[in-house]
Amino acid sequence: MWICPKCGREFKRTNQGHYCGKAPETVLEYIESQPSKARPHLTEMRTIIRNSVPGVNERISWSMPVYEKEGKTISFSACKEHVSFYAGMEAIEEFSCELNGFGTRKNAVYFPYEKALLVFKCINTGKDVYRQLDAKDARAA
Ligand SMILES: [Zn+2]
Repeated sequence: MWICPKCGREFKRTNQGHYCGKAPETVLEYIESQPSKARPHLTEMRTIIRNSVPGVNERISWSMPVYEKEGKTISFSACKEHVSFYAGMEAIEEFSCELNGFGTRKNAVYFPYEKALLVFKCINTGKDVYRQLDAKDARAA
């Protein structure tokens, strides 16, 4: 745990990059506070999650967008060069082939901003996970 001396917010990693203003209270505020190159990806990820998980509950927790339904959560956060998508270990295993070429770590997968945004929709179990290649990004790639 690290507390930024400027804004007093808590982060998992020391010197974690963030917007030092008022802590965002909604996911839209969170997205607004991120660098411009991250925003389209974050907006898209938000849209995909909300569209694919009916009734999902959206909030900010641990300074990140968090989506919860029936006690299961997924979340994402903007990093310098990628979006970290915290999907759960089972989902990462389920889609290990599709995620080949993307960096993964335990329960997270990293989507570089310059690559097609591959997003799989899940609530922490391999069963109800499925994926969607963003058509627009895939065409451009
Ligand atoms: Zn700060």
